[in-house]
Amino acid sequence: MDDTVKYLLSEDKLPTHWYNVVADLPSPPPPPLHPATHEPVGPEALAPLFPMALIAQEVTSERYVEIPEAVRDVYRLWRPSPLYRARRLEKALDTPAHIYYKYEGVSPAGSHKPNTAVPQAYYNAQEGVTKLTTETGAGQWGSALSFACSLFGIECEVWQVRASYDQKPYRRMMMETFGASVHPSPSDLTASGRAVLAEHPDSPGSLGIAISEAVEMAAADPAVRYALGSVLNHVLLHQTVIGQEALAQMEMAGETPDVIVGCTGGGSNFGGLVFPFLREKLAGRMNPVIRAVEPASCPSLTKGRYAYDFGDTAGLTPLLKMHTLGHEFVPDPIHAGGLRYHGMSPLISHIYELGLIEAVAKPQSECFAAGVRFARAEGIIPAPEPTHALAAAIEEALACKQTGETKVILTALCGHGQLDLPSYGRYLAGDLVDHQLSDEAVAAAMANLPVTS
Ligand SMILES: *Cc1c(COP(=O)(O)O)cnc(C)c1O
Repeated sequence: MDDTVKYLLSEDKLPTHWYNVVADLPSPPPPPLHPATHEPVGPEALAPLFPMALIAQEVTSERYVEIPEAVRDVYRLWRPSPLYRARRLEKALDTPAHIYYKYEGVSPAGSHKPNTAVPQAYYNAQEGVTKLTTETGAGQWGSALSFACSLFGIECEVWQVRASYDQKPYRRMMMETFGASVHPSPSDLTASGRAVLAEHPDSPGSLGIAISEAVEMAAADPAVRYALGSVLNHVLLHQTVIGQEALAQMEMAGETPDVIVGCTGGGSNFGGLVFPFLREKLAGRMNPVIRAVEPASCPSLTKGRYAYDFGDTAGLTPLLKMHTLGHEFVPDPIHAGGLRYHGMSPLISHIYELGLIEAVAKPQSECFAAGVRFARAEGIIPAPEPTHALAAAIEEALACKQTGETKVILTALCGHGQLDLPSYGRYLAGDLVDHQLSDEAVAAAMANLPVTS
């Protein structure tokens, strides 16, 4: 009997190109708009924030973009990453379903984030940028970018969401070890931060506020650029190494997924895993159900509106057409800090509108229960974010137990939770509250959308 649990690709199978799903969609996503004129923004509007190479990737409709050799060289430190069959979890659940997970926790930062941090630092270094600013929630993105900047000789300055800065000191130490400087957000270093503090001195912060601070600092200095860890097209593009490898690994396993689930904060690990499978689906070569899983306390896809909105709280970015809870929305301080973003990637939002993917929202207690169950069977403690995907995978597997179906379920285990143990501690102590967002709170959050159409 075949009892393989781990599917490994050799180094020469590392993808040579990123895959751009836009090339295969029936229509492209709507373009970003200038906040004042409401006209599509040209590359020059983004130039103060991003290097030209990344701006070109943001708007390209080419199907494949070559990965620079210097970037593949760094990827080789941990890629190709393993695909596991969760046989012990299947057994614990007593399900006929086959559960596979693509594990990104083997990277230096412990998540999928270095897949885009490395090329972003590389392209900025190529264009003479000396410093990158960024925001971070749980600290995953900040530590990934700090690592990448250290490799390419760039300074890195990070605004970390206050709630996570206080809850997760080890991430800050990790960023500082890689050479970055880290500030809690909101901070008094920027006009955006000072404005929030004036009104809410105890603000727990949000990704939207931290983005405003990092963008403000980058825009003010021509040698400094800004880096975003999710949401934008070029970020999702870089993450497609995950799905391309997973496709080859599922082939090694001799199986085709019936259901693919992934957690969505800004959409990058989800897009990275599913886009290559969506390509296969659109070409009629497979037909998996593809499901995004978001937190019930920050449900941009399932409760947000599909509208043009700012990417940050202060309104400094171009307008993005996305599922949004409103740029002023500050979600409750749940433990999956990486999922606390008011909007969803425009590309994922567009694909959702096209009806090519589904979405569900999960409360954090169900997610931690799934994370603990997974850890006790598979030995990996998941980051709080992918426990959302695991909760959905387990739900699907238990449904198979009822129907007797042998579905093949694939998920992205996009990070480990070894620096998130205080959150597990609180769950195990029974101290975790579920924040359900009321319809009134959602309506109030969306009252200030910049464009009402
Ligand atoms: C950042 C992060 C997320 C959320 O971001 P996406 O762009 O939606 O992937 C999820 N999981 C982990 C482990 C993260 O670090």
